[in-house]
Amino acid sequence: MQLKVLALPGDGIGVEVTAEGLRVLKHVAAKYKHELVLTEGLLGGIAIHKTGTPFPAETERLTLEADATIMGAFGLPEFDNAPPDKRPERGLLAIRKVLGVYANLRPVKAYEALLDSSPLKNHLLAGVDMIIVRELTGGLYYGTPRGISGTGDEERGTNTMTYTRSEIARITRMAFKLARNRRRKVTSVDKSNVLETSQLWRRVVEEIAPEFPDVKLDHLLVDNAAMQLVLKPAQFDVIVMENMFGDILSDEGSVITGSIGMLPSASIGAQKPNGAWVGLYEPVHGSAPDIAGKGIANPLGAIGSVAAMLEYSFGLIEEAAAVNTAMEAVLNAGVVTRDLKGTATTEQAGKAVCEAIG
Ligand code: NAD
Repeated sequence: MQLKVLALPGDGIGVEVTAEGLRVLKHVAAKYKHELVLTEGLLGGIAIHKTGTPFPAETERLTLEADATIMGAFGLPEFDNAPPDKRPERGLLAIRKVLGVYANLRPVKAYEALLDSSPLKNHLLAGVDMIIVRELTGGLYYGTPRGISGTGDEERGTNTMTYTRSEIARITRMAFKLARNRRRKVTSVDKSNVLETSQLWRRVVEEIAPEFPDVKLDHLLVDNAAMQLVLKPAQFDVIVMENMFGDILSDEGSVITGSIGMLPSASIGAQKPNGAWVGLYEPVHGSAPDIAGKGIANPLGAIGSVAAMLEYSFGLIEEAAAVNTAMEAVLNAGVVTRDLKGTATTEQAGKAVCEAIG
């Protein structure tokens, strides 16, 4: 199979961890005999330095040409006070818009070797393996009217939570399709006891569910979901929710497993006729200026993002599983970076994953 991949390493440790993600991708492509067509582009602070804009036209062209994009991290301290259109992070919003990615996926998995890094008691973590699916382009963060109006005691802040049937239906179908390759369970999170948006959300989810008779559906109110995530996280397989609920619960989910350097993410949108998702893949963490250039960043979030890309954008389930299993072996062997109390460099950790893949 041909894999047309664009890499946008970005800034700070983005460059270091992406190099290891690509090392693993090249290794997998060679081992499983896929033709890797890799291009590299500019996004973020480095793009501002070289072209004056965080999302150059050339990067947009490369993005549209690629089957999938792997990203590092974006942001440099020197731009902290720059105007919004000159900030590296603006590039991230622009590329999401160009690709129309409307779902953010955060896999949350407990690794045996990291149980002690979790704030939860070890016995709660056995079997934790879920994907949080957050709607990314609708809801409270985009609804209008919005703004601050009036003065004095009457000064008023307004935001609007709104969803259309089609927005709910497309993310629901995505959640069910993801569940089919997993443990076949979808939990839909809403606040339907109070919000009309959530009542429509629940109704549409119920209407779509019969299209997937092999997948079990249940519903949780968002306040209960926040509790269940820490009380009994192993009960979840795929959890789907609107934008703000997802923003909050995905951060709660992310601390369950330990270091931020471990966490991959995927933002996906349209599904191609062959079933592959158009996607952007990146570790959850930022450019970490405090450790950039030292060669000690944990590359496993970036490598996990490569695994997610293989699975969602290319349908290569076996290859993705090989990467995930190798990461677990490397964790168990203790070839880990300083954030996980190890002594390995970024490069040593990346090479160890390749060796474990075999
Ligand atoms: P950060 O995620 O970069 O760092 C937070 C802390 O976690 C730091 O102490 C850092 O050393 C540590 N850390 C992060 N990733 C690590 C890794 N892979 N291995 C080991 N330790 C790791 O967040 P921040 O410091 O708040 O932000 C720094 C810059 O990154 C800012 O410019 C911010 O805007 C940007 N940022 C970008 C993204 C993105 O590109 N998606 C996300 C978050 C922050």
